[in-house]
This record gives sequence, C-alpha cells and structure tokens, in this order.
Amino acid sequence: MSVLVMKFGGTSVANPDRIRRAAKRVAREVANGHDVIVVVSAMSGKTNELVGLVNEISPLFDAREYDAVVSSGENVTAGLMALTLQEMDIPARSWQGWQVPVQTTSRHGAARILDIPTENINAKFAEGMKVAVVAGFQGVSPEGRITTLGRGGSDTTAVAFAAAFGAVRCDIYTDVDGVYTTDPRIESKARKLDRIAFEEMLELASLGAKVLQTRSVELAMRYKVKLRVLSSFEEYDENAGTLVCDEEEIVEQNVVAGVAYQRDEAKMTLISVADRPGIAAAIFGPLAEAGVNVDMIVQNISEEGRTDMTFSCPVDQVARAEKAMLEARESGEINFHDIVADKDVAKVSVVGIGMRSHAGVAAKMFEVLASEGINIKVITTSEIKISVLIDRKYMELAVQALHDAFELDKAA
Ligand code: ADP
Ligand code: ASP
Ligand code: MG
Repeated sequence: MSVLVMKFGGTSVANPDRIRRAAKRVAREVANGHDVIVVVSAMSGKTNELVGLVNEISPLFDAREYDAVVSSGENVTAGLMALTLQEMDIPARSWQGWQVPVQTTSRHGAARILDIPTENINAKFAEGMKVAVVAGFQGVSPEGRITTLGRGGSDTTAVAFAAAFGAVRCDIYTDVDGVYTTDPRIESKARKLDRIAFEEMLELASLGAKVLQTRSVELAMRYKVKLRVLSSFEEYDENAGTLVCDEEEIVEQNVVAGVAYQRDEAKMTLISVADRPGIAAAIFGPLAEAGVNVDMIVQNISEEGRTDMTFSCPVDQVARAEKAMLEARESGEINFHDIVADKDVAKVSVVGIGMRSHAGVAAKMFEVLASEGINIKVITTSEIKISVLIDRKYMELAVQALHDAFELDKAA
C-alpha cells in the first residue's frame, strides 16, 4: 500500500466546515488507493491564545509546562478530524504524539524528532484503517514529558512521518496556493513558484518565510521526501502548488529567488564590555543557556580595551536575554556598563542560489534601501543570502522595493 501524508495548517481546520472540507480531500486520496496519514495543526489562533495564557501566568515559564499547554490545540483538531472522517464512513482514528510515540529530544519548545516507530500505525492500516490522524507539533521526551517542535512545527511532523513511512509524497495544505517570491500578504506582485530548490526554501524559511518550518525543509532534503505546498481552499488539480525539489530539477532560475522578512526582532547592545579573549564565549554562553536564539552579531571597534557588543534575537526573548546578562555581570563572568534593547527592528533578506556565481547582489540591495532612505543597522551574508536589520516601520517598504528592484514578479 502506498502511504500519502497530508498536513492541514491552522486556517485549514479553523472550524467544523473547514475540517469537513479538508476531510473531503482526504477522502479523495483514500479513493485513489492511498493509506493516508493526516497531520493537523491547532485551529488558527489557538496556539497564540495558549502561548498568551502561559505568558500571562508565568513570563519566564518552565518550558515543560509551556509545552504541556501549547501542545493541546492539536489534540482537539486531531480528534475532530478523526470524527469527521468517521462520519463520512472512512475508518480513521487519532494519535497524539506520545501515543505513536513521536520520540524527541528534551529541548522543550524547540524539540527535535529522534524517531517515529511505524509499527502501531502500520498495524492499524493492516487491519483496514484508512486514515491515521496525527496531532502535529508535539512529541514526547526521553523523560516522558510532552514536547513541542517550535512554532510552525506541524510541517516538521508531516515531513518526518513522510520519511518514516516512506510516503509517496508529503502535501502541505495551507492558506496560500504555494510558495511565492515573497509573502503575498505584503507584496501583491509576489509570484507563485512552480518549483523551488530545497536550499533556497531552507534559507527563506529560516529567514522568516513561515510557509514551511525550517526543520521540515531540512528533513525533506535529507530524506528525499517529495514535498509540495498547496492551498486547501482552491479546487484540486494534479499540478497545483509548489514542489520543493533538488536544484537540478529546476530549469530557469532568477539570481534572487525570493525576499523574506522577520518582523519581531530586537537589537541588543552591551555597552562598554572589556575586550579580551573569551569575551564572546562569556556573553553568548549564558545567552544560549537561557534559551535565547541569538541571530546576528556585531562587535564594534574597541577603544581603550573596551567595546560594544551588539546582537539580535526575537523580541519576546529580550527579557530572558537581559536577565541572563545581568546575572552574568552579578557573578563576575562579564562586565559592561549598560544593556540597551531596541525592540523596533525587523530583518529583511534576499535569497538565491544564483548569488553563488553572481556578484553585485549585495551592492544592489544596499542601493535600493538607500534610495528609499532606509538605514541599515546590521548586515550578515552567506553564500546564498544577504540579511539586513532595519527599523520595523520600513519593513514592508523594504520588501516591496527589493521585490521590484530584483524583478521577482517576472519569471527568468
Ligand atoms: P499554516 O497555518 O497553514 O501552517 P502559516 O501561516 O504557518 O500557515 O504559513 C502560511 C503563510 O506564510 C501565508 O499565509 C503567508 O502569509 C506566509 N508566507 C510568508 N512568506 C511566504 C512565501 N514566500 N510564500 C508563501 N507564503 C508565505
Ligand atoms: N499550532 C502550532 C503553531 O501555531 C504548530 C503549527 O501550526 O504548525 O505554531
Ligand atoms: Mg505553519
């Protein structure tokens, strides 16, 4: 029997009507002869609501309890989807992560999947069950605690199941009809891509394009999962959506494939740090331990043995970062005069494997931003991307100006 994985995101299961609509798509794939693993997200808005409750009760929460709370949205949709399928006379049942069990690391809030045993579900398929509905985003740690895979983690659940079960394909149903050159909600001229290379998708995702969670793309690349992104709202056709595939499977390609953004960044500066060997380790060690995801780093010019150290992190981790730095100062590990947080910045990035062989993309990016009067606060580059940190109020403008300048609305 061939297994197909179908993942439905929050908006695709937002209410009973949408769940029925999704279930009809599942029914068609069952009729096509597949055993189907359906991975569901929580209803749209639910996870945010649960995160809000946790923060209200405990701002510097115990991550194990955070996971216990925020994983619960998916339990509801998994059960409702199984019931909907049963109402349609399709043999189906739900599985929560721990029941499979989806075994993960114990890094709560950002756990990684270690293993997905297939025996339980395959035994049910062998007995005639047609659809296994799996609650996305969640797993269980070696200590037996419930874990979550990070925001957007249901994509990763879906790809991991596709890899474990050797699925013919992993279809990610969402509220847009594929992967675009940038977020179509910000740039109306964004163009849908029929195909995108794994590496470009990986960069776009890690730089903020939340249409796929980064880890899901990594897994698809590693395990050669045929990964497709498509809309759960439009009429189905065989060639719908965007196929994420190997570079070699793409014929024409722009130098820049897409523009990504991350809205909720913060820029933090430690003012007047002693500039000595080991200082970076003394700062970023405690930050990592406190669970702060440091992204860009700049060490300023040093004067009289002291320097300013700037880094960026998600804005909701500023309190954690401040606490870790103040504690490190208290214990004498580091010494600085002040810590300043700029909570109104955003990161904008251009991505494309064509940059490996084309010079001048960075220069053009900086010119475009300059001509819009946008000041660049921090820059980072890699082989296939350039990122800048700018004031958040210019984020949309920057995305649109770059999309225009690199003519992403036109196919290569
Ligand atoms: P789901 O709930 O289905 O997982 P998400 O909200 O996580 O959906 O991801 C889909 C959203 O990703 C779209 O609504 C779109 O606003 C956003 N997005 C950001 N960048 C892109 C892009 N390059 N292409 C398509 N969608 C994008
Ligand atoms: N419900 C989780 C979130 O909102 C996981 C997901 O939707 O993929 O992050
Ligand atoms: Mg998502």
